[in-house]
Amino acid sequence: MLQLTRISKSYTTGDFTQKALDGVSIAFRDNEFVAVLGPSGSGKTTMLNIVGGLDQYDSGDLVIDGVSTKEYADRDWDTYRNNRIGFVFQSYNLIPHQTVLVNVELALTLSGVSPKERRTRAMAALDEVGLADHIHKRPNQLSGGQMQRVAIARALINDPEILLADEPTGALDSATSVQIMALLTEIAEDRLVIMVTHNPDLAQQYANRVVNLYDGEVVADTNPFDPAAEVAESGKRVRRTSMSFLTALALSFNNLMTKKGRTLMTAFAGSIGIMGIAAILALATGVDDYVRGIEEDTLSVYPLTIQSQGFDTSTMLAMSADLSEEAFGSGSGEGGEGGNVREIQSIGRMFSSVGSNDLVALKDFIDSDGGGIADSVSMIEYTYNVTPQIFTTSGVGAGALPGGVRQVNPDTSFSALGFGSGMTSNSLMAAQMSTNQFNQLVGDTSLIEPQYDVVAGDWPSAHNEAV
Ligand code: ADP
Ligand code: MG
Repeated sequence: MLQLTRISKSYTTGDFTQKALDGVSIAFRDNEFVAVLGPSGSGKTTMLNIVGGLDQYDSGDLVIDGVSTKEYADRDWDTYRNNRIGFVFQSYNLIPHQTVLVNVELALTLSGVSPKERRTRAMAALDEVGLADHIHKRPNQLSGGQMQRVAIARALINDPEILLADEPTGALDSATSVQIMALLTEIAEDRLVIMVTHNPDLAQQYANRVVNLYDGEVVADTNPFDPAAEVAESGKRVRRTSMSFLTALALSFNNLMTKKGRTLMTAFAGSIGIMGIAAILALATGVDDYVRGIEEDTLSVYPLTIQSQGFDTSTMLAMSADLSEEAFGSGSGEGGEGGNVREIQSIGRMFSSVGSNDLVALKDFIDSDGGGIADSVSMIEYTYNVTPQIFTTSGVGAGALPGGVRQVNPDTSFSALGFGSGMTSNSLMAAQMSTNQFNQLVGDTSLIEPQYDVVAGDWPSAHNEAV
């Protein structure tokens, strides 16, 4: 049941205000065919639009099934329009580049109906208005009467309780108008149809109630309805607007595709930003990782070592540069003897620049994390010049010791020649020819494990193991 109570509506254009409806009070039965008559500009369309929720009233109230719409939210209006109202306009409002079938189907996309059912129902609605043979035509291939039938089929596909038609025959010849009126009469058999028309004859002939509007007021009503006299109806089922996820997806995709250029540009611009950030991050972490990798590799092969004795290489180089300058500066023939003297001098100075480090104090310093050194290093190791004495019983050959064993580390093979670890007269030579093949393994093998493949045995886990 629809009831308008003292509905007013004005339109303001510039500083001119036009009152379109002036306190209209009227109620409609759930099932009747109402014709609204009135001169042009009397407010017929405005009233129809307010009843259908297409336009908002300024004051008064529209009561639907006994419920005021004053507090309606947008969603409530959507639900009302989509589920309970069907619209037919004088100008048909069909989508020109879509077929008749699609035009009708489209009205169902917001109702959460599956595509298959949409098609079935659209075909049925088109059959009902006598257009079964024309479903694949486009609107411009149809006559005016046929286009209005498509519009009626579209309005009916949701099976609305209320059909609103604004001058549906306004653009049609009288013969076609009669057909449309007959169709609307049929439709009005089980619902409320409110039709605006210019034609009093058609109204009289087909409608069972004629309402006259003049200057935004109801001036005549052939069959008034007083809802207070009727028994209040119990609450009706309300169908909410819903849309399946797939339909929503398809509609969004369609929308994106109709604006291909913009979509593409937006996507492109967006991805440039994202790719740019990603590239910079990747590069930064990549370079960081690379530098860290190089540092670790290098330091594990060439660690910084501090020995008990050491000499300052840079001063040594500086000294030898000084010496060669002297040699070239004054050397004018009799340099032979002088050169020898200088060589001896430079070697002498080299040994005099060798200093000894206080490793005990250094270890104390490091152990107490002096200078926060622990944060800047991967590992600190101490070595004590231990040369493991290793013997073997297999492959005993030259240089065998009594008892059939042979020392393999330090290797004694060269000692017979006067080299190696034995006491030789040339200790410098002995250092050069050191046959100690063993290096102390660092305490934390995680640093070196990735750099080696163990081809036999395992990583040592105790202090007396070797690999
Ligand atoms: P009808 O359908 O009976 O011809 P309308 O309801 O369309 O009359 O219009 C009623 C009055 O309101 C007219 O004077 C019209 O000029 C005015 N009107 C309608 N719609 C608008 C609008 N959107 N903006 C300004 N004035 C409007
Ligand atoms: Mg109008």
